[in-house]
Amino acid sequence: MQLTINKSRLMKRLSELARIGAFSDGGVCRLALTDEDKAARDQVMQWMKDLHLQTHIDQVGNLIGVRPGAKDIAPIVIGSHIDTVPTGGRFDGAAGVMAGLEAIESLNEYKIQTERPVAVVTFTNEEGVRYHNDLLGSRAFCGYISPEEAYKTVGTDHTIFGEELKRIGFAGEFPSGSIRPHAFLELHIEQGPVLDREQVSIGVVEAITGIAWYEITIQGEANHAGTTPISMRQDAGLTAARIITYLREIANSLGENQRATCGAISFYPNAINVIPEKATLSIDLRNPDKTTLEEAEQRLLDFLEKCTIQDNVQIETQRLAWVEPRACHTDIISTIIEATNELGYSHKTMVSGAVHDALTMASYCPTGMIFVPSKGGVSHNPAEYTSADELEAGANVLLKTVLKLSQQKM
Ligand SMILES: [Zn+2]
Repeated sequence: MQLTINKSRLMKRLSELARIGAFSDGGVCRLALTDEDKAARDQVMQWMKDLHLQTHIDQVGNLIGVRPGAKDIAPIVIGSHIDTVPTGGRFDGAAGVMAGLEAIESLNEYKIQTERPVAVVTFTNEEGVRYHNDLLGSRAFCGYISPEEAYKTVGTDHTIFGEELKRIGFAGEFPSGSIRPHAFLELHIEQGPVLDREQVSIGVVEAITGIAWYEITIQGEANHAGTTPISMRQDAGLTAARIITYLREIANSLGENQRATCGAISFYPNAINVIPEKATLSIDLRNPDKTTLEEAEQRLLDFLEKCTIQDNVQIETQRLAWVEPRACHTDIISTIIEATNELGYSHKTMVSGAVHDALTMASYCPTGMIFVPSKGGVSHNPAEYTSADELEAGANVLLKTVLKLSQQKM
């Protein structure tokens, strides 16, 4: 007999959750630790209790529901997040948590006793919008950030993380960092166009991208746009344009997984008849391979050096962030593929170009990620959409993978 999840039950929970913080256009706003987040947490806790899970709230507000196994050993943990960006959709994060609950309800329904405990977790503040400390919940779960450090985080609205966590009643006592999973699984919408375009059901994530963020400040000289001969200019705007063009060269020359983007730029004094004295630009470099990401960074730095001479400007470079890429665990990748094949779904191995809680978890325990299609690749947008059939396929693969892993020694 093929064990499968219950699609209508899965979709019912997902739409109930989407009502919390809903906009009329189908979008959702549940910023971390707001009243909407609290209401969604209350709902998830209730569902965990309805499924007879042992529930815990840890020190940073991660919600943990455990279904005991035959043995009291390291659990299989399924997790994602229920916080959103300000104009988010109903699937980012929520799909993974709801699929986890549904997989567990299916185990209950079929009265399956797994060897290992199976737990579902919702991580606090994945998005990092209100509190820029993103992936905070998963990092605390792994013990990479202490609760005390997390509490001090100041929000964009000047609130303090620790105070808001207490205010909404989710400053728990269960020690963060005390569970080391046998394996971690996250189901997530792709948030990109590949699966939808190629009509593939399941994305099996091989690696999660690393990120290098820079702020580049170019210092030239402001001068008259009419009277200053071209050869005598120190034009910060020109250098900014060269850098942006060079980013595309970096991307084109380092393989299909290299990303390079200038997303923000400002000129000073920013006037129509003045040569820019100063230009500030942001750079986002991503690659799932550490060496290649470092190569991209080096090429950028070498190019900046060249620009200072060529354009007679000064360039200041500040690395704002560095996130090391992580590979998913090969045994888990092959288990997900096996489950997908047995269920008769199509699959494709791929790289996650977005950061997820699974990135944190991958450096802590064997980790795997299951992607389901995002219509048109649209995400962080009320128009985000994954069909019920696509979610059903993803949740079935999740359930089957959990069953395989929970019996396995590894
Ligand atoms: Zn997400």
